[in-house]
Amino acid sequence: MLKRTKIVATLGPATDKPGVLKELLRNGVNTVRLNFSHGSADDHRNRAQAVRECSRGLGLPVAILGDLQGPKIRVARFQNDKIQLAVGDSFALDATLETNAGDQTQVGIDYKQLPEDCNTGDVLLLDDGRVQLEVVAINGSRVETKVLIGGPLSNNKGINRQGGGLSAAALTDKDRRDIKVAAEIGMDYVAVSFPRSGDDLREARKLLDDAGSLAEIIAKVERAETVANNEALDDVILACDGVMVARGDLGVEIGDAELIGVQKHIIKRARELNRVVITATQMMETMIENPMPTRAEVFDVANAILDGTDAVMLSAETAAGNNPIEVVKAMTHICQGAEKHQLSRPAPTGITQRCERFDETIARSAMYTANHLVGAKAIVCLTESGSTPLWMSRIRSGLPIYALTRNDRTLRRMALYRGVEPMFFDSTAVNEADLNREILEGLKAKDQLQPGDLVILTRGAQLGEHGGTNSMQVLKVS
Ligand code: PGA
Ligand code: MN
Repeated sequence: MLKRTKIVATLGPATDKPGVLKELLRNGVNTVRLNFSHGSADDHRNRAQAVRECSRGLGLPVAILGDLQGPKIRVARFQNDKIQLAVGDSFALDATLETNAGDQTQVGIDYKQLPEDCNTGDVLLLDDGRVQLEVVAINGSRVETKVLIGGPLSNNKGINRQGGGLSAAALTDKDRRDIKVAAEIGMDYVAVSFPRSGDDLREARKLLDDAGSLAEIIAKVERAETVANNEALDDVILACDGVMVARGDLGVEIGDAELIGVQKHIIKRARELNRVVITATQMMETMIENPMPTRAEVFDVANAILDGTDAVMLSAETAAGNNPIEVVKAMTHICQGAEKHQLSRPAPTGITQRCERFDETIARSAMYTANHLVGAKAIVCLTESGSTPLWMSRIRSGLPIYALTRNDRTLRRMALYRGVEPMFFDSTAVNEADLNREILEGLKAKDQLQPGDLVILTRGAQLGEHGGTNSMQVLKVS
């Protein structure tokens, strides 16, 4: 059974065990995430190589996404690794305190500018909000606080400010080094953490260009400022190729209750602006330990799919969990269940919108046909760059979009597009007169089509040309 929603799985120690990676790909993972917050450059190189080999062996196109660490703001370390804070305790974050000198009353911070970015009355959220501190005074390098919600606090836990507004630049020195590694590995996507605006993404683009990388950029939406108004969100979306609803940090900054609507809005807006979108973090969290998801998790994944996300992401569930293969199987199952609902949308988004590109118009016409023609079973597009299937997949239909290309990079990139089945096909190696028949026979041989099915085919007059799509045909499978 086809699965339209794509699964992004983070690799880590749990997926390094022999045979695991292959099972992940066989059971529905379309994109792997290499997380630059953990592991060495060599770890990433080795994992990328294993993915390429495995993907080739299975004949499944898989994209590699490198996720830059970004300026995650963290507390430094404690003398005894961990403390316990109680409600009402006084506790200071001190930019000048030595790295390992934290104790019951104070701890260092790696982001030296924190005292300048904070004001009395701010609430700081540590360890994803498990510990909350209210700022009572700023004394030079020291942020003096009172504990609002107590609990354990250990080395290097993250700090967010409620409502956002910490101003650290998105691309750190480490990110700049990691971009070179991403280029060397030939990563298909690179995710930028905590972008403040489109400028941070344009800078990332420039760094990738300079390093010789053609990777597409994913903007992680994880600052409250990015979702504070439509202009800020559009600025970020328009400067990237895809967005991630980074619910971990975003949820901490704006609160989970607010996140419910914000997730829907980001997904909708990304699709409207022809960008792909990944929904991330704590989707199947309890499966890190347990062999089964909770019903709440099943419905959370399904909800993102109904919202229209291209992909759902697994973090520690695959990277460091007890059940990396089981969690992918469970997620695939949820995708297929959710996709049974609301298969088509008879009045596709953007139907009233005008556009300048004829290839985009052809893509939209194909989707109109897909949603209206009785007996239409599949869409096939011949593509060089992947633009046509991307446009197509921004509009809902219940039909699979078989995207045929001879370009390996395009093949992998499309692994993230919802509803798109990337397939290798070299149209330039086939006689014009035999082309349609070859395509339909090929899909029939793979059991994707039956005699009598109607197929919507888009292509260009000149095969193998970028941006050349200028025709749509309806074919009947014989
Ligand atoms: P992270 O990003 O896992 O790198 O923090 C995702 C998120 O914040 O949700
Ligand atoms: Mn994050």
